[in-house]
Amino acid sequence: MKTLNMIAGALACAFVAPSLASGAEAVKTANIAERGLKPADFPRWHQVVPNVYAYEDKLTSAGQTLTTNSLIVVTTDGVVIVDGQDNIEQGKAMVANIKKITPQPVKYMIIASDHVDHVGANPALKEAWPNMVFISTPASKKTMEAQKREILASELVTDKRDLKVGGTDIQILNLGRGHTGGDLVVYLPQSKVMFMSELYDRYVFPPMVSGFPSEWVATIKKAQAMDVTWYIPGHGFTDSDAPTLKADLGEYLKATEHVISEAKRLRAAGLTCETEKNCPAHEKANWGSYTAWTLYPQQAPRALARVYMEMDGKLPK
Ligand SMILES: [Zn+2]
Repeated sequence: MKTLNMIAGALACAFVAPSLASGAEAVKTANIAERGLKPADFPRWHQVVPNVYAYEDKLTSAGQTLTTNSLIVVTTDGVVIVDGQDNIEQGKAMVANIKKITPQPVKYMIIASDHVDHVGANPALKEAWPNMVFISTPASKKTMEAQKREILASELVTDKRDLKVGGTDIQILNLGRGHTGGDLVVYLPQSKVMFMSELYDRYVFPPMVSGFPSEWVATIKKAQAMDVTWYIPGHGFTDSDAPTLKADLGEYLKATEHVISEAKRLRAAGLTCETEKNCPAHEKANWGSYTAWTLYPQQAPRALARVYMEMDGKLPK
């Protein structure tokens, strides 16, 4: 058993074979322990298509450890990253690991989610590559200014920007609000890869605390309507085949729609949810199999409270 575990550990570190997950694929989770992985297995990364890597490091929240994901695009004229990690230590690890992948410098970082677990490591990247340019939506820049983040975007994308770096086409798209209000996705038309950032938190109970629930549904549908083979999530495992990742985006959309329809049903039944801590509606909710999704106990009452806010017209315009 011990030998087997060691072999499994070595494979996980190398993280070269997406088929590695096949046995665990039935486990609908973002929790590393439920996937048979350990904190020491991270960070890890794998090549999704030639020169495009999904990079996972770990994040612990409410007693569960899941992955936070970044996309690394290597071109013949520098590297483009989408989303970072949580803290400086993880940023230093990311720098060291990118240098293992390519001698090319990082030229751009696209901030697709402005939450700390995706931007907290950025100063370590900037220190390693002082010329790198940060790109976000104006909304995310405003959020990050308010949070007094050390590094803010110097270039902004309102709707769409086509970036061409070393022959690689990179579309930076604002498909609408969802998880943060400043959400971006990044689409690589040549390889049909789309990094969804936190618009797709695979098998994480929809984290809506700063979200825009109904708009989120519309934004996912826009992404689904595009010509995409690989949908890469911002949290949750990236090491599945393309059809599974695509199908699970559909599952994620269903979960988001279920939260909204439960909120509507519960409110019509006269139940309230003023805040996540004062949410009688949560006790009466029918969450079904979503109780097994990662971070369910923490995120379900938050999500309900947010949908109630939306129904009451209290979300930011
Ligand atoms: Zn996050």
